[in-house]
Amino acid sequence: MTQRNNRHSDRQQKLKETVDNKIAQAQTVKGLLLVITGNGKGKSTSGFGTVARAVGHGLKCAVAQFIKGNWDCGERNLLEQHNVEFQIMNTGFTWETQNKETDTAAALRIWQECRRMLQDPTIDLVLLDEITYMVSYNYIPLEEVITALENRPKMQSVVITGRAAHRALIELADTVSEVKNVKHAFDSGVKVLKGIDW
Ligand code: ATP
Ligand code: MG
Repeated sequence: MTQRNNRHSDRQQKLKETVDNKIAQAQTVKGLLLVITGNGKGKSTSGFGTVARAVGHGLKCAVAQFIKGNWDCGERNLLEQHNVEFQIMNTGFTWETQNKETDTAAALRIWQECRRMLQDPTIDLVLLDEITYMVSYNYIPLEEVITALENRPKMQSVVITGRAAHRALIELADTVSEVKNVKHAFDSGVKVLKGIDW
């Protein structure tokens, strides 16, 4: 028993040394680019969770939502009360209407707001929710997105969400997570639920 305890504390000590070393080596201070992609549920939830976390620390946040359904949005209802700016593509692209001309115009309109956010050093965190689709559909030129992200203020962080993130966005990002779909209630005929799905 004592031998096992000793082995356990040796292992824990080694683990602690490894983690301490990593912490000591992490010296860079900069804003981060996070990409949350994949087919499972939880990408926007994660993005908004990060915004809530930042707001809780008194940081200034801004949100752009590129795809909006016909429902109101719990995150917006809450976060606007905490002075989080929301820019929403409320005309144009939804899953129902897919008209290339009006969608492109709507995407570019909100993209101008994003460019402004990405140049504003007073904004600590920008959430670009579902922007991956705008790039995949060529509504917003990939090069413009990359350039704006590369030239943003040094301490500004950005979260990008959406399925099938472009390879170039993944390469540019500091942290990339892929949410895997294991199962989703919708597939067994359960309706979307207020507070859970929107
Ligand atoms: P959420 O906003 O819940 O975090 P998400 O951002 O990961 O979801 P989206 O692709 O943006 O996923 O889809 C948003 C809506 O579609 C939500 O209502 C969500 O519950 C639903 N959804 C997400 N993933 C799936 C899936 N794999 N199958 C069916 N519906 C899904
Ligand atoms: Mg989403």
